[in-house]
Amino acid sequence: MSGVDAELQRIAALPGSGRYELEFRFGDGSLGTAVVEVGATGIRAAPASLPPAWHPGSEPLAAVSEAVLALHRARTRASALPTLRDVPGGWDVSIGNVVLTDGVPHCLAHGPMAVAGDVFACELCGARAVLDLGADGVTDAESNAASG
Ligand SMILES: [Zn+2]
Repeated sequence: MSGVDAELQRIAALPGSGRYELEFRFGDGSLGTAVVEVGATGIRAAPASLPPAWHPGSEPLAAVSEAVLALHRARTRASALPTLRDVPGGWDVSIGNVVLTDGVPHCLAHGPMAVAGDVFACELCGARAVLDLGADGVTDAESNAASG
């Protein structure tokens, strides 16, 4: 078992499509987390957020990637379910300000949201979200927008 510097503890699906939080435990008992995104060629993560031994091409990262991709496949099969996602440039879904309750987008603080076109918005705080009704063909193209 030498050479193992961290152990995977948990994989949690984050709001939005294809984003997962990894939780791992280091040898000293401390915990770390990293957010990964499933892309066309596998998972992507900021290398600095992963344990040092989980570098590209390493066995630990390959094993974690398999687990994340398996979870992602399982979730994708349930894509007939309505799913919230952020408006382009938005973050309210990612940080949990907007949740689905009985199939209707709700602002966590203020309740049901008003709809205008495809976008649901909270009239009190301005939180915004898009509700995908599970149709096929949702793309990740808009999630590749550069930030700066
Ligand atoms: Zn609100």
